[in-house]
Amino acid sequence: MQRFEELRRRLVRSLVEEGYIRSEKVMKAMLRVPRELFVPDDLRYLAYEDTPLPIGHGQTISAPHMVALMCEYADLDTGMKVLEVGTGSGYHAAVIAEMVAPSDAPREEWGHVYSIERIPELAKRAQENLRRAGYADRVTVIVGDGTKGYPEKAPYDRIIVTAAAPDIPQPLIDQLRPGGKMVIPVGDRYSQVLYIVEKKENGEIKVKPTIPVLFVPLVGEYGWHLHEY
Ligand code: SAM
Repeated sequence: MQRFEELRRRLVRSLVEEGYIRSEKVMKAMLRVPRELFVPDDLRYLAYEDTPLPIGHGQTISAPHMVALMCEYADLDTGMKVLEVGTGSGYHAAVIAEMVAPSDAPREEWGHVYSIERIPELAKRAQENLRRAGYADRVTVIVGDGTKGYPEKAPYDRIIVTAAAPDIPQPLIDQLRPGGKMVIPVGDRYSQVLYIVEKKENGEIKVKPTIPVLFVPLVGEYGWHLHEY
């Protein structure tokens, strides 16, 4: 356990040095969430390598630097309501939860994370991981097609999509609160760009491309259809 803590501290230090972690908030959250509880047992020894790892069903837990950067771009704060599309292992959802509902903040100030996953087996395991890590009361995992968003709890202050879309799904734009932000990778299998999408108070949409990235496909009604990818 102590060994993992030391490895986590070292990883966070190098993410700060490399410029992926830029704020105190992201640093604190990444220092608190035990990534070793979100990777498959036989890969735990790799939990603090800065690399994506397989989690089954052809999917991955994203690399720590990507989680850090997406959280920085999303500019998360205590009390926010966030939709994550692509729960995967649940790790990124836990980091988001640690920022919108920090463990050391009063519960009345807590925000909430709704995280949607299309593969039921992954959603179930993510839920278990989140419970073991102490985030079950701050993250709700839903099984479904996240390209349609989760209208039941809309609008969201932030939307974070962790799979690559051919285009920005309209339902996600619709479910963003005016003044809200979405971070989403857009592109095809070999070439994607991470976008920051801002919805202004007057409803105007501004899209800012950032860096090239590589994610698994966002599969669904407003994403890729499996036969085309
Ligand atoms: N955030 C995850 C983590 O921390 O482990 C990593 C996510 S993985 C890179 C992308 C996930 O998106 C996969 O688990 C995949 O099944 C899921 N996914 C793809 N299309 C989806 C959709 N339309 N709705 C919900 N989840 C989807």
